Amino acid sequence: MSRPYGQPTCTWGHDPGVCALEISAISGQSKKEPGMDDEGVLEAARLLRPYLPQLMTPTAAEKLDRQVASLLDDAAGGQNVTARLWELLGENRFTRTFLRKVLADAPAYRPPDVKRRDRRRGPGELPGERTPVQADKFVCPNGHYTWYRQAVEEAMPRCPSDGLELVRG
Ligand SMILES: [Zn+2]
Repeated sequence: MSRPYGQPTCTWGHDPGVCALEISAISGQSKKEPGMDDEGVLEAARLLRPYLPQLMTPTAAEKLDRQVASLLDDAAGGQNVTARLWELLGENRFTRTFLRKVLADAPAYRPPDVKRRDRRRGPGELPGERTPVQADKFVCPNGHYTWYRQAVEEAMPRCPSDGLELVRG
């Protein structure tokens, strides 16, 4: 899976200055080559959807959610949408940061607030040894949405794409 990390060049044909910055920022946190991390980018997109209303105006959140949902549908149909998601989420600094943090958490791919809560859980643990929160993770069976229950009283949402009940992921 892992490729030797060479020059930080843009794989997607984007503006080299912008992408080189983005890639080097990520590679500083993780030895993975993030642009090639198809599953990580997909998971970040699924994870991002419940957070969009906190990150931008309602109109912008709704629009971006529709775009992300459409790409996740394409992915469910077998297309590789990594490049398109990468580009879409890279347009906004909040979604770009979210994507970067999820990718840096490979292979658990937790959203930043879940990861923080998780780290507080074990004060005596060694750095890098974090307890996974698998039991709290719920996903759309069609791969549209990933949601972490962070408090028992939180009502479980349904998948906003197809209305399906989420299942343990
Ligand atoms: Zn769904």
